[in-house]
Amino acid sequence: MLNHRLKSDISEYARQQGADLIGFVSTRHLDAVTPTRYTPTRLWPEAKTAISIGRRLLTGAVAVGTGDMVQNARWVAWRTNELLNNCAMEIGHFVEQHGFRALPLSNGTMVDPKWNNMGLYGELSHRHVAAEAGLGTIGVATYIVTPQFGPRVFFNTILTDAELEPDSKLDFSPCDQCPGECVKACPTGAIIRGRRTIKKRLCIPRANPQGFMVLQDYINSLMALPDLESRRQRIEDFDFARLHQSLVQGVGTIAGCFDCLAACPVGLGPKGQTA
Ligand code: SF4
Ligand code: SF4
Repeated sequence: MLNHRLKSDISEYARQQGADLIGFVSTRHLDAVTPTRYTPTRLWPEAKTAISIGRRLLTGAVAVGTGDMVQNARWVAWRTNELLNNCAMEIGHFVEQHGFRALPLSNGTMVDPKWNNMGLYGELSHRHVAAEAGLGTIGVATYIVTPQFGPRVFFNTILTDAELEPDSKLDFSPCDQCPGECVKACPTGAIIRGRRTIKKRLCIPRANPQGFMVLQDYINSLMALPDLESRRQRIEDFDFARLHQSLVQGVGTIAGCFDCLAACPVGLGPKGQTA
C-alpha cells in the first residue's frame, strides 16, 4: 500500500539535510527500463522504491575547473559527493525510524566486480534513477540535465522496502534546441550526439586524473626503476604528492574535468550561476 505521508515527510527531511532535488520511482519500473543488468532488485530483491536525491555543484567551482587552478574545483566536487552521501545516510536512518528498511548507496565508488566497462559501473546508475524519478533528462553528454541546475548537480539513491508514490517523468528535452555546446567543449572528443554513452577511454584520463589507473601506472613505474636512488627520486616528485592528496581527500578520483558541465547553457543565470 502506498504511504503518502511518509513520502512527504522524507521529502521535507531530505531538504533539511541539504538535498536540492528529490524524486521517487518504483523499483519495478526501474527493473523494466534499466539498460544494464545493474537493476535495483538485483541489488536488493525486496526494495520497492528508489529515492533519488540531487545536490548542486557550486558554479564557482565549475568556472575555476575550466582553468589552471582545477584542483580546488576537484576538491569542491568531491566534498559535494561526500555531503550527498551523508544526506543519503541520514535519509536511510529517517526511513528506518519510520518502520521500514533502507539501503543508501554510495556515489563516487566504482563497483564493477567483473571489471567490465573499465570498472565504471556503479551498483546502480544514479542518473537513470534520477531521470525516471522525474528530476531531469539524460542529455547529449549522457549526464543528467535538470531544469534548475543543468548538469551541475550530483545524484545518489536510497533504496527502501517502503512503497512510496512514484513521481512522473519530466517532459523536458533541452538538447533538441541546443547546437551541442557540450560536444564542442569536450577537448578529447568523447561526447558524440546520438551515442548511448560517452567514449569513456577518451574521457577518463581527464575526468579521473588521479584515479585508480593513474595510481596503478605510478606503482608500476616505481617498480620498473632499476635502483633505490631513482625510486627515491620518483617518490619525491609531485605525482606522488597528488596521489597522496587523492587518497586522503578523494581529490581527482572523480569529477576532474568540468568543461562539458560549464558549457551546458541549461539552468544558468545571467552571471553563470544556478538558482
Ligand atoms: S568530463 Fe571532460 S573529457 Fe569527459 S566528456 Fe566531459 S568535457 Fe569531455
Ligand atoms: S550542452 Fe546542449 S546538447 Fe549538451 S547536454 Fe546541455 S543542452 Fe544538451
